[in-house]
Amino acid sequence: MTNSTINMTKIHNFSAGPGILPAEVLQQAADACINFDNLNLSLLEISHRSKNFEAVMDESKALVKELLELKDGYQVLFLGGGASLQFAMAPCNLLRTDGTAGYVNTGVWASKAIKEAKIIGNTVVVASSEDKKFSYIPKGYEIPANLDYLHITSNNTIYGTQIKEFPKTAVPLVCDLSSDIFSRKVNGNDFALIYAGAQKNMGPAGATMVAVREDILGKTGRKMLSMLDYQVHIKGESMYNTPPVFPIYVSMLTLRWLKKNGGIAWIEKINQQKADTLYNEIDRNSMFIGTTAKEDRSNMNVTFILHKPELEVEFDKLTKEANLSGLRGHRDVGGYRASLYNALPLESVNALVEVMQAFEKKFA
Ligand SMILES: *Cc1c(COP(=O)(O)O)cnc(C)c1O
Repeated sequence: MTNSTINMTKIHNFSAGPGILPAEVLQQAADACINFDNLNLSLLEISHRSKNFEAVMDESKALVKELLELKDGYQVLFLGGGASLQFAMAPCNLLRTDGTAGYVNTGVWASKAIKEAKIIGNTVVVASSEDKKFSYIPKGYEIPANLDYLHITSNNTIYGTQIKEFPKTAVPLVCDLSSDIFSRKVNGNDFALIYAGAQKNMGPAGATMVAVREDILGKTGRKMLSMLDYQVHIKGESMYNTPPVFPIYVSMLTLRWLKKNGGIAWIEKINQQKADTLYNEIDRNSMFIGTTAKEDRSNMNVTFILHKPELEVEFDKLTKEANLSGLRGHRDVGGYRASLYNALPLESVNALVEVMQAFEKKFA
């Protein structure tokens, strides 16, 4: 067996998703595509019910439980369909036919979740930051006690806002953690349901991690389609149908990498350092403006614009020359967005800051 070696020009990858993965994980993933577990077979051509893959599934789930510090009573699933399918599955499984779901609207992803919930049943938006283009996180809003659940989005990937303090309520919390899961300490037990598409901070596209407290299921009074029913997937141990084996495997490798290096406490510190470095430069540098409320700034997706938008071509030229990639903002909002996911080293943030300083020197 030959190992393909990753030996390319070093690119600083600020992509918002799918996002950067650790180089050693990519290498291990590539190896497993050729010869998995010394079976002389590819991971991609063996049964998902083989004991080798069952071990992958078990370890992946165990790592999720450990890193989120989940107590007994939670089930971890890896499903297809992306986080977007969870926008529909959450209300299908949790919203009673005569009940009400609450949502906090903090951007495009939350809006899409609301759209799906409204199709399933009675849905109210309890707070929104749409009035200021989703540039902040609503706080201090009233949470009606009769809600079946309250849905929040931990990190707003497109706008660059992040919930720093989760709402305290007796209403079960459902959280879309797609773009900041495993980036900071979160008490998983604060939530009845957590979901996250793998491709932002956990692995490649194609798998979605779901962690659900089992006692909240089976209460809606709704007939369920099998593939949309968490209980069916729990009973099938995430193998009711063929699971996305490759994204699950690579997610497992990434979580192993995280654990080996010191877990959440280790990465949270580095992520804070990366975010502080970049936000400090945005605030100091006369050429740039941060686009979100300071107290709600995301440590994962840093959004900013130029004082003089006509200089974007020049800034793009400099970033390209420095091998910085993936910095343009989401097509809905424009400007710039630097995504600082777990696998992005501080060195890449420093490279961006150097370019920002060179840009100021040249054009201020
Ligand atoms: C990317 C993203 C989604 C959508 O994920 P898909 O896997 O493409 O469906 C949902 N929520 C958040 C917060 C995201 O960042």
